[in-house]
Amino acid sequence: MAAPVLDVRAATKRYGEGDMAVHALRGVSLRVERGDYVMIMGASGSGKSTLMNILGCLDIPTEGRYLLDGTDVGSLEERQLSVLRNRKIGFIFQSFNLIPRMSALANVELPLAYGGVKPAERRRRALAALDQVGLAERVGHEPNELSGGQQQRVAVARALVTAPALLLADEPTGNLDSRSTADVLGILDRLSMSGRTIALITHEDEVAAHAKRVVRLVDGQIIEDRRQAPVDGPPPRLAAAEAR
Ligand code: ADP
Ligand code: MG
Repeated sequence: MAAPVLDVRAATKRYGEGDMAVHALRGVSLRVERGDYVMIMGASGSGKSTLMNILGCLDIPTEGRYLLDGTDVGSLEERQLSVLRNRKIGFIFQSFNLIPRMSALANVELPLAYGGVKPAERRRRALAALDQVGLAERVGHEPNELSGGQQQRVAVARALVTAPALLLADEPTGNLDSRSTADVLGILDRLSMSGRTIALITHEDEVAAHAKRVVRLVDGQIIEDRRQAPVDGPPPRLAAAEAR
C-alpha cells in the first residue's frame, strides 16, 4: 500500500499557556488516501483553519504527528517546509490571492518559477493549466480585468500547475455568486475524476455534496467522518450525472 497523502495522528493545537490557553484541536486523527475528495466542515471556531494550516504545512501541531505524502513534517525546518509546500500542495483561498497587475499566465507560472522550472516549460505548463479551467482565451488578462469566478479559476490553475499531491482549499466559493460557484465546483469535480486528491473547507452543505467524504469538526474534535462515494470512483455529482 502506498502511504496516504495525509496522515494526521492524534494532533493537538494549543494557542497560549496556562489559564489563557485555547485548545483549538483536541486529538485529531485523519488519514486521506490518494484520489479522495474530502470536505472539512464545522461551525466558526471549531478548528477548521487550524487544521488546514497544519495540513498545508503552514503550522505544526503542539502534540501528535503529521505525515504529508510519507514525509514527517515535524522533523523539518522552515526552509524544508517551504520546499515541501511548493512541491506537494496547491493552495486555493477564499479571496483568490492573485498578484495584481500580473497577467493570469504570469500568476499561474509563479509557483513553477519558485520551483526552478525553466521559462519555456513554465509557459507550456501554465497555458495547459489555464486551458484546463476554461481560460485559454484570457491568459493575458490581469486579475482586475476578470470576474470573481474567473479569478478563482486562475487560482485553481495556479494550484494545479505544479501537479501537487494535494489540492487544499479554504472556502474557495465563499466569495462567489451561485453561477461561479457551480463553475469552480464543476472544475474540482473533474479534477477529482482525474485522480487528484482534494481537501476543502466549507460550511455550505451544497458544496459538501460534491465531496466523496465529509469530516465534521466540533470544538477541535472530529465528531463525524462520512463517506459519500468510493475513493476510486467518480465524485457524487458526476456519478449522478452519469446515471441520468
Ligand atoms: P475555524 O476556522 O473553524 O473558525 P479556527 O481554527 O480559526 O476555527 O480557531 C479555532 C479556535 O482557536 C478558536 O477558538 C480561535 O479563537 C482559536 N485561535 C485560532 N488561531 C489562534 C491564534 N493564533 N491565537 C489564539 N487563538 C487562536
Ligand atoms: Mg477559519
